[in-house]
Amino acid sequence: AGRLKGKIAVVTAAGQGIGRAIAEAFIAEGATVFASDIARDKLDGLARAKKAKLDVLSTKAVEAYAAKVGEVDILVNVAGFVHHGTVLDASDRDFDFSFDLNVKSMHRTIRAFLPGMLARAKANGSSGSIINLSSGASSLKGAPNRYVYGATKAAVIGLTKSVAVDFIRQGIRCNAICPGTVRSPSWEGRVEDLGKSVGGKDKAMEMFVSRQPMGRVGEASEIAALAVYLAAAESAFTTGTAIPIDGGWTL
Ligand code: NAD
Repeated sequence: AGRLKGKIAVVTAAGQGIGRAIAEAFIAEGATVFASDIARDKLDGLARAKKAKLDVLSTKAVEAYAAKVGEVDILVNVAGFVHHGTVLDASDRDFDFSFDLNVKSMHRTIRAFLPGMLARAKANGSSGSIINLSSGASSLKGAPNRYVYGATKAAVIGLTKSVAVDFIRQGIRCNAICPGTVRSPSWEGRVEDLGKSVGGKDKAMEMFVSRQPMGRVGEASEIAALAVYLAAAESAFTTGTAIPIDGGWTL
């Protein structure tokens, strides 16, 4: 405990799943956490966080939120959506929506929070850390029926490296986390959906687990542990990376 003592962190999509686990882990490590989600009620059970409704699809809302929160040390971009299907299943609308939520949202939050992060890093002689949720399904791996999703998560890696290189001398680090399959409410929904076409939820679960070489899916808390590392001073020499944490999925 205490690895993030004195740090101020912003976490989007903190209502459930990986975002929630990251917010909890940051709080446990002593950070002040501004936790947001489009569904405000999902944040209710999150103790000791500064909670707010935030739709990361809205530039205006993100800018207003950043102005209210002020200067921060850590920004974690978690919001994302999994579109199921191939290129033939993805309409222009599907394509635009996924890029808007999975990629442009990060552009919005980084543009809004980075000036304050730079100012704080300079004033404190400390460093800021931006952490973006990508996926193994990205430039790391082509996953079946993850056409738009994989394209957006590859874009997240490109965005991450660009931000990392542009601000490397100004005390800002930027890294991407690339999980394999992780248990979360939306993943449970995907299992449920797949179950309808493969003969039941258990069979669908088996299919998800069998693609994981380690023979199990990940837990959100395991992803949160990496986020803590990337947020903390112990990773000070790490920037521009896309780190797989996937039970061997991309092996
Ligand atoms: P989830 O999909 O279960 O939850 C997503 C959260 O995002 C919800 O609380 C939802 O209310 C919120 N949200 C949706 N639209 C929003 C918006 N416009 N503005 C703000 N918040 C919004 O969470 P998860 O499965 O843990 O996924 C979190 C991130 O991790 C996503 O970017 C996802 O792509 C990535 N990821 C997940 C897995 C996995 O297997 N679960 C694997 C790799 C990457």
